[in-house]
Amino acid sequence: MTDQNDILFERARAVIPGGVNSPVRAFKAVGGTPRFIQRAQGAYFWDANDKRYIDYIGSWGPMILGHGHPAVVEAVQKAVLEGFSYGAPTEREIELAEAILALVPSMEMVRLVSSGTEAAMSALRLARGATGRKTIVKFEGCYHGHADALLVKAGSGLATFGNPTSAGVPPEVVQHTLVLEYNNLQQLEEAFALHGKDIACLMIEAIAGNMNFVRATPEFAKRCRELCTQHGALLIFDEVMTGFRVGLHGAQGVLGITPDLTVLGKVIGGGMPLAAFGGPRAIMEQLAPLGPVYQAGTLSGNPVATACGLATLKEISKPGFYEALAKKTRTLVDGLKAAAAAEGQPFNADSEGGMFGFFLMNELPQNYATVMTTDNAQFNALFHGLLDRGVYIAPALYEAGFVSAAHSEDDIAATIEAARDIFSKR
Ligand SMILES: *Cc1c(COP(=O)(O)O)cnc(C)c1O
Repeated sequence: MTDQNDILFERARAVIPGGVNSPVRAFKAVGGTPRFIQRAQGAYFWDANDKRYIDYIGSWGPMILGHGHPAVVEAVQKAVLEGFSYGAPTEREIELAEAILALVPSMEMVRLVSSGTEAAMSALRLARGATGRKTIVKFEGCYHGHADALLVKAGSGLATFGNPTSAGVPPEVVQHTLVLEYNNLQQLEEAFALHGKDIACLMIEAIAGNMNFVRATPEFAKRCRELCTQHGALLIFDEVMTGFRVGLHGAQGVLGITPDLTVLGKVIGGGMPLAAFGGPRAIMEQLAPLGPVYQAGTLSGNPVATACGLATLKEISKPGFYEALAKKTRTLVDGLKAAAAAEGQPFNADSEGGMFGFFLMNELPQNYATVMTTDNAQFNALFHGLLDRGVYIAPALYEAGFVSAAHSEDDIAATIEAARDIFSKR
């Protein structure tokens, strides 16, 4: 039988660089042919061969209700009939803004945009504009979208300025970006001691989901807050992934820390292109048209996307939603740990709300360098083993996983069983 995914991949590669519109979809890290998805429903999607997979990427986070939730579909269908985009304000944008602010108490005002990249980039400009400072602090392994100033890896030596991680980013563009090791208190202290008066902001994924799943320790997160306050820098929580994913109030709710600015995306669009950034009124009013910091977007606050986001937020705000999601995700993580232990496979895993990560090592990593010591070949074998068995996890070991409200106990049990089978045949 001809593999339809192979056929589509060949066609795609002829017209789209690498055959994909976002690099991680290409299976470059794990090898093999990317699966071209035809349709999705609930916890599943089906590839071009009509093979069904239990979906643990959920569009990389947004699909917290599962695919095709009836209330969301209905809201989107209704919105589509009223027009796709106007380029003029709508009541629905106010409703979504009000809904977001009600759930994230650190935000007094919010601006809607279309992607997480755009939101993070705009928050950064706002932080620089509001403080009149240039330097930004980020952490190795945290991803904040692909704006030039954020595509940086650590330079040599402690608390030095970074080097671009992409061609096309001149070193001058990242010369104000300090890249520190995640959870390294000493580097954090040193960076503020050396550069504190120049630091506009510190941007962090307080529960990181772009180096697999790594939590900032409570002391580390607390120290980020204290040092920013002490030195007049803004603390920015990039919650594009964790917002409405690890809990109803995001990573800031889990950690009990109030950032100055919050960046949101993924879940707030429910699968449509929608993201946001926000914070205190005095800072947000620095934005155009009120203030001197320019920011704009033709499709910002799009009426179909806001309908999708609003319907999604309504569902996840129902009592008990996160308790059930967190319990299910815990069952998966505990089951995988038990399966690995039974088969003598070094393994550890963690989760918060509907987000999880697992590691083919006994300890839970604290930073990017440790995550990257994972045995690639072992991860790839597990990835392809699961894929063959109809379980789709992220095709790279440095990505987190996502459980949705649509995943059933049976889906979780089948996933654990598939992993146990793979571990047993190592
Ligand atoms: C996904 C992600 C982004 C980028 O969002 P896009 O919508 O892909 O541009 C930024 N920050 C974090 C933490 C993310 O997970």
